[in-house]
Amino acid sequence: MKKNIIIGNWKMNPLTLKEAEKLFSGVAKGISGIQKTEIVICPPFLYLEKLKKLSKKINLGAQDAFWGETGAFTGEVSGEMLYEIGARYVILGHSERRATGESNSDINKKIKSSLVAGLRPILCVGESVRDESHGYFNLVKMQLEECLAGIQRGSVSKIIIAYEPVWAISSTPNRQDASADDSREMSIFIRKILSDKFGKESSRTRILYGGSVNEKDASEFLENGGVEGLLVGRASLDAKKFGEIVKICEVLSK
Ligand code: PEP
Repeated sequence: MKKNIIIGNWKMNPLTLKEAEKLFSGVAKGISGIQKTEIVICPPFLYLEKLKKLSKKINLGAQDAFWGETGAFTGEVSGEMLYEIGARYVILGHSERRATGESNSDINKKIKSSLVAGLRPILCVGESVRDESHGYFNLVKMQLEECLAGIQRGSVSKIIIAYEPVWAISSTPNRQDASADDSREMSIFIRKILSDKFGKESSRTRILYGGSVNEKDASEFLENGGVEGLLVGRASLDAKKFGEIVKICEVLSK
């Protein structure tokens, strides 16, 4: 059975290891008793190893991983290195990285090498704007096709797809709220693309929604958004709010 999953993306926060440990311990405390929901925290790289020691229940993920195992790639961190220090998930193709020039073909290489390293990729897709002629569906389709090119059928269940409409993310200037209907419509579309490409193996691939989710609207997205979990940015920096989102997911899990 696929467990629903709540993933916290801390982005480049907090500033110190001490604060990171405090936040992480707060999350760990708030989720005791949770059994049906998988929980992943994606902190900055340099906190991973220390946080790993603080909880067995929380899985750790990175926010990027370079392709390749070792080599002359100044400034990069590979999936193997991340696995070695305890990460089991990795966010790939986040819009904030795409904005710095990361292409679908870069993301494709990173997905392949992360899988080889034993990490579960969380592939972010989503449009920056919605146009009246619905061209954003084609954009998401292209992101999926190019990022997942050459992935084996047997690996697709290890990949998580996070639909994150960029216009709804908390850091987007003049952001707008996405609705559970927006999420459900795109989730059905993504599921169809996966099924056409990978067949029934893809039915185990989890699709998530992300974009300013908080403790007030999490139940709406989980109940009506057609998703098996949430990718949470800003609200994951507040242990109490994040814990509430996890508990909502737990109650709604069958
Ligand atoms: C994100 O950027 O992955 C995200 C979900 O952020 P937020 O919840 O802050 O919109």
